[in-house]
Amino acid sequence: MQHFQYRSRILMTKNLSSVVFIDLDDTILEGPFESFVFPTIFNELSEKSKVSVSDIRRIVATENFSRQGNPNIAPLLAMDWDDIVQTIAAKLDIQIDQGIVLKIVKRCMRPPFIKLFVNAQAVLNELIKQGHYLVAVTKGLSKYQAPLIKALGIQSIFTEILTPDTYGFLKNDIRFYGNWPSKTDSQIIVGDHFMDDVVYPK
Ligand SMILES: [Mg+2]
Repeated sequence: MQHFQYRSRILMTKNLSSVVFIDLDDTILEGPFESFVFPTIFNELSEKSKVSVSDIRRIVATENFSRQGNPNIAPLLAMDWDDIVQTIAAKLDIQIDQGIVLKIVKRCMRPPFIKLFVNAQAVLNELIKQGHYLVAVTKGLSKYQAPLIKALGIQSIFTEILTPDTYGFLKNDIRFYGNWPSKTDSQIIVGDHFMDDVVYPK
């Protein structure tokens, strides 16, 4: 598993006053899941099971949402698409390659499947210039997001990159954010998801 590094040089020289949490997918970038990964997986599940693609999509989404809302399921498993796909395949009584989601993710780390939104980098650089810490906050697991962050060359923009793997929580738990809320005077979150990026962070 890949681990993200702190930019310790900056942590030592700046006053920790303001952090801006930046969501990744559909906020500053387009990831590969909707454009390529899900369609590829859903087609394969559909062909093997003879269940329609739209029903497969609904079954997978239901599994993902029910895991996120189930306190008895580890947060990491809620967002582990490989585990979800294996669970669905078993329910449908079909076989699918172990780790197929990650394999597909790695196959599409290039345009047009992924892209940084126009001006995103310039805006983020301007926030850094103004003295804010930028911390990436994504609900995607590190194994899926690390190749994306590397391919887009955006790792060095952020002081830290928080995923569910970092502390073992999803964005609906304050512990997802580590000690950033307590060690900064001001916290702002920029995101596109009403529950994850607005309601839970308050
Ligand atoms: Mg998002």
